[in-house]
Amino acid sequence: MDSRILKQAVALRHELHARPELSGQETWTKQRLQDFLRVNTALEITDRGAWFYARKKGHSAAPPIAFRADMDAVAMEESVPLPYASTVPGVAHKCGHDGHCAALAALALETERRENGRDVYFIFQHAEETGRGARECASLIGEKGIEEVFAFHNMSGHSRGVVGIRPGTMNCASQGLSFRFRGVPAHASLQETGKNPAFAIADLVRAIPDLTRQNTFQGAVWCTVIQVALGSENFGIAAGDGVVLLTCRGEREEDMLRLTKAVEAAAGSFAARDGLEVALSLHDVFPETANHAESVAKVRAACAGLGYPLYDMPEPMRSSEDAGHYFKAAKGALFLIHTGDRPPIHTPGYDFDDSIIEQAVTIFSALI
Ligand SMILES: [Zn+2]
Ligand SMILES: [Zn+2]
Repeated sequence: MDSRILKQAVALRHELHARPELSGQETWTKQRLQDFLRVNTALEITDRGAWFYARKKGHSAAPPIAFRADMDAVAMEESVPLPYASTVPGVAHKCGHDGHCAALAALALETERRENGRDVYFIFQHAEETGRGARECASLIGEKGIEEVFAFHNMSGHSRGVVGIRPGTMNCASQGLSFRFRGVPAHASLQETGKNPAFAIADLVRAIPDLTRQNTFQGAVWCTVIQVALGSENFGIAAGDGVVLLTCRGEREEDMLRLTKAVEAAAGSFAARDGLEVALSLHDVFPETANHAESVAKVRAACAGLGYPLYDMPEPMRSSEDAGHYFKAAKGALFLIHTGDRPPIHTPGYDFDDSIIEQAVTIFSALI
């Protein structure tokens, strides 16, 4: 990789890091990335509102390939004294998406200097953390007839530079369930005159282990209690309403949906038993991110050719990643590049490791 481009990419990453933006609010980030590409390339750039893409036209009619980076940061304080630390209170790039964007921008610069057969698309996606962005950006796949999509995620854990990948589920599917129970409040001395949702909520929480143990699932499933809130801090009033927040997760999307149905049915039956109303709303819906075997083989071959160590992950990542939306519309794969013994992503001490930018760009280049 050209050392000047690498230097520019690292500087860009630090700029993005200092001005993090939450999911769906990546206005400055999007503009800065477009400006960077306009100044340094002659690529065609198309703004799609919340996100944008750049295209390097190829000289053949072969189906296009795409690479994707996510632009959003996380609602978390920065606890490391970086010279380019976040200037936005309570928001920081704690998932390394600043690094994903810098690497993709560098790939665009590198690609522009080379001959490429097919068209190459560079997708700068919004709102990965909420699972909304890829669902919207994936429309580009059909519009442009894109054949294959690749993305990477930085990850601490293994030695720096080790690539992790697996065919099939790479990241689990998940969704947030918010149950709102509505009963009737009463004077605390006359609780029998009200309808208190405490018992339905307690029974729902107690039912979770059984609901997840049912062996009708093809892969692993989890249901996590996120929050339980009930009544108010007033000893004179028996609770009249309550809320339960759960996250359902599954190695397979189908299982996650089946688990959601089972939890919903249990909530409904406990509510009916106690004369309560219950309403369910879904949040942060993530698909299963399933890597295509053929695309995984290409990443393996690229890493072998480049001499990068690669391991086949025995299990999928439990955490979700919305890249699965692209892989429902086209072939593709997401792979990890490890950064050694650093604080994990989504923790206050985390910072993206600039030393893997070159590796990401080199692997992507080999896939074109
Ligand atoms: Zn994240
Ligand atoms: Zn991430």
